[in-house]
Amino acid sequence: MSNVVRMSALYAPTLKEDPAEADVTSHRVLLRSGMIRKTAAGVYSFLPLGWRSLRKIEQIVREEMDAIGSQEMLMPAMQPAELWLESGRWDVYGPELMRLKDRHGRDFCLGPTHEELITSLVRHDVRSYRELPLSLYQIQVKFRDEIRPRFGLLRGREFIMKDAYSFHASQESLQETYEAMSRAYARICERLGLDFRPVEADSGQIGGKVTTEFMALADEGEAALVYCEDCDFAANAEAASTVVPRHPAVTVARPMEKVHTPDIHTIAELADFVGISAHDTVKTMAGVVDDPASPDHGRLAFFLVPGDRELNPIKAGLAVAGVRLLDEAEFATFDIPKGSLGPVNTKPGTIVVAENALRDEVSWGVGANEDGYHFLHAMPGRDFEVGRWADLVVAQAGDGCPVCGTPLLGARGIEVSQVFQLGTKYSESMGATFTAEDGSEKPFLMGCYGVGVSRSLAAVIEQRADEMGVAWPVTVAPLEVAVIPLAVDGEVADTAENLAIRLAEAGIETVIDDRDERAGVKFADADLIGWPYQVVVGKRGVAEGIAEVKDRASGERTSVALTEVTEHVAALVASARAALAPKTAHPAG
Ligand code: ATP
Ligand code: MG
Repeated sequence: MSNVVRMSALYAPTLKEDPAEADVTSHRVLLRSGMIRKTAAGVYSFLPLGWRSLRKIEQIVREEMDAIGSQEMLMPAMQPAELWLESGRWDVYGPELMRLKDRHGRDFCLGPTHEELITSLVRHDVRSYRELPLSLYQIQVKFRDEIRPRFGLLRGREFIMKDAYSFHASQESLQETYEAMSRAYARICERLGLDFRPVEADSGQIGGKVTTEFMALADEGEAALVYCEDCDFAANAEAASTVVPRHPAVTVARPMEKVHTPDIHTIAELADFVGISAHDTVKTMAGVVDDPASPDHGRLAFFLVPGDRELNPIKAGLAVAGVRLLDEAEFATFDIPKGSLGPVNTKPGTIVVAENALRDEVSWGVGANEDGYHFLHAMPGRDFEVGRWADLVVAQAGDGCPVCGTPLLGARGIEVSQVFQLGTKYSESMGATFTAEDGSEKPFLMGCYGVGVSRSLAAVIEQRADEMGVAWPVTVAPLEVAVIPLAVDGEVADTAENLAIRLAEAGIETVIDDRDERAGVKFADADLIGWPYQVVVGKRGVAEGIAEVKDRASGERTSVALTEVTEHVAALVASARAALAPKTAHPAG
């Protein structure tokens, strides 16, 4: 018996209309094609078709992990609070951590990630440098109580991740595994047919961490990226430190001038009022040092950036440790005016931080710290002091490449995976040590590596969807070929059954649409679900000894002799599979 899937028996409830709740393309397609159903916000069931595709992605991930010597295991989703208290994350993880109590009142969480758990295992069982390096992974459901679960599988509260962890005696060894993982992640993206780009996620300047994100390029992606066409540089705009271009309009010093600017609260209004462009204004954002451990605790911090740029809160936090940006509702508490903040006449103790790119500007148009007033031609060093110069703005397209200076291009992306060198963060806090070659006790060096398995499924759809549904890469399609008979009995049905069996026997994943439905319904569902190849068997074709083979991606239809359908389709599937073979070098060569 062949394992042909029958549409008549398949639990694949397709929808004719777009569901109102679908907020993004992949969400719409997943719901309409009957691949997933929502159970609660950010919580989904995978129906048979969705589960098939998901399992295919898991299998690709598994093969690539096994190929670099990572070992599969499975840890519990439920984790005792003690481990998280040891690492210090029970408190810092915040409301995103799903917490629960058992019947004895003991605290647990549902794992959003497994650094604590794996560290607690390895610290007991691995004693010597001789047992290192060690690389372990699991494919498992993760829980994060996201503040805004949305976009279907792209940002769920329960989702499937492949997470890997590695343990090392030396930085060189960690680096080696990190690079092997990065190459494996590139191969995974290639096999999924994703148009992707590895990007710096947290550049040296920003956090000193070694990490790369793999971004599937997509217009509706949540992440903004910048990349260089002339060199390899590519980064998450949140993390990038770029060369911010400035073309100062003012080149001569003039006396500072106080101007009355009633009802002016935004940069655009100010620029309009004084007749300059937003580019030539400087805007001031306020923060307060909230960290009781900081010597600056309670001080205000003003961040000055070009009027047409956004302050990056991560960079603000690096310039002033422990700072929290204020929203305007809080301004009254600190007795500072809305819409006219500036570096002149600040309250005593205010830390003034200005964006590096403003250094060459002779004078600035700024708020006067007085309702309804601004200063023109305010000069740093003459009219006010800048306490700190720093990289402060969110990078954007058009900024200079930090490596070669070429203007950067912008794109949007979906983070499908990330590799990270953790160093000794967890091994130190959790006392996970091994005996080094010289006999001393040392904390493990660690790396962690995550692939969003369910998010990747949605990312593939984001790149492959059209008005009718999705044109899957064969590697992810729930099944590779659909045989579509245009009658439910007689010669047409028999011929179709026969073809389906022969295709399945040739090792092709095959479904037959044996439902008693009109041709139009069958064709619409076939394109919606997106079977990569469709073999249409009709009365006339059978009489003439031919079937029509449709390529879902190109829409191309070919008449093929019934005797040659199996061979023809097998060749198509084989070449589609080959086209998705990884381009990134494999460890075996
Ligand atoms: P994001 O910045 O998108 O919230 P993250 O950086 O917090 O993600 P990681 O901790 O790096 O996520 O997790 C590894 C991978 O798990 C991510 O690259 C992503 O593909 C996936 N992932 C993370 N959060 C979610 C989620 N809420 N829903 C689905 N997949 C997710
Ligand atoms: Mg990440």
